[in-house]
Amino acid sequence: VRVTFTTIHRRGDGVTGAIAVLQDVTEQEKLEQSRREFVANVSHELRTPLTTIKSYLEALEDGAMEDKQLAPRFLSVTRNETERMIRLVTDLLHLSRLDSKQALLTKEQTDIADMLEEVADRFSFQLRQKSIRIRIVAEPGIRPVALDRDKIDQVLDNLVSNAIKYTPDEGAITIYARMAEGGQLEISVQDTGIGIPKKDQPRIFDRFYRVDKARSRNMGGTGLGLSIAREIVKAHGGAMSLESEPGSGTKVTFMLPVLPEEENAS
Ligand code: ADP
Repeated sequence: VRVTFTTIHRRGDGVTGAIAVLQDVTEQEKLEQSRREFVANVSHELRTPLTTIKSYLEALEDGAMEDKQLAPRFLSVTRNETERMIRLVTDLLHLSRLDSKQALLTKEQTDIADMLEEVADRFSFQLRQKSIRIRIVAEPGIRPVALDRDKIDQVLDNLVSNAIKYTPDEGAITIYARMAEGGQLEISVQDTGIGIPKKDQPRIFDRFYRVDKARSRNMGGTGLGLSIAREIVKAHGGAMSLESEPGSGTKVTFMLPVLPEEENAS
C-alpha cells in the first residue's frame, strides 16, 4: 500500500487538517515485476541461439568449412538454432496478440472426434518414430462445439507435442473428450512419460518456465507452449489444468464452455 500524506494549512492557524491517500500498489508492482522478468527472459532466450550460431559460424570461418565431416554438422546446428529462433519469435507474436486481445476468435461448429483424429494424424510420423501408441477416447453424447479451429488445433498440437517430447519410446498417449458438468466440453491429453516434479507444477504454465531448460532447448522447445495453450483456452472462456506424477505421467485437461444455444441444438 502506498500512503500519501498531505497537511492542510490555513494562514495563521498552522495545520488545520490532513489528507491521507491509501493506494493499493501491490497488484501494480507485481505486474511491473512480471513485465520486467518477461523482457529479461525474452532477451536471454533470443541471445542463447544467437550466441550458438555466432560461435559455429566463427568455427566454420576458422577452417571447419574445409572439413567434410564437420562442416555439414555445424551448418545443421546453425539451421536448427535459426529454426528455433523463428519458432520463438512466432510464439512471442502469438502471445502478444492474445495479451492485447487482438486475437479475435473465428468460431465455427466443429466435430470434436474428427478434430482429435486429425491431431493424431498430424503427429503420426513422430509417434511412429518413438513407437508411441495414441488412443482417442471420445465419450458418446459430444455435440459439435463452436470454437476457433486454428487456435484449438494449436492448443492440441502443443499438448500432444509435449506428450511425445516427454514420453520415452514405447509409451502411450490418450486423448479423452467428454461433456462435463455445466455443459462444458472437457478434453485431456494424458501420457505415460517422465512427469513433472510437484515443486515445478505450480509454475508450469508461466512463460519460459521449464523443468529442465537444457533438455527443453535440445528438444527445440521455447518454454512458451503451455502458456500459449492456456491463453487460447482462456480466450474461449475456458480453463486449463494439469496433473502429473513424476515417473508415471502427465495429464493436461482443458474445459471449453458450450453456449446454451449449442446445447439445445441437436
Ligand atoms: P517447452 O517448449 O519447453 O516444451 P512448454 O511451455 O510447452 O515449453 O512446457 C513447459 C515445461 O513443462 C517443459 O519444459 C517441460 O519441463 C514441462 N512439460 C510440459 N509438458 C510435459 C509433459 N507432458 N510431460 C512432462 N513434462 C512436461
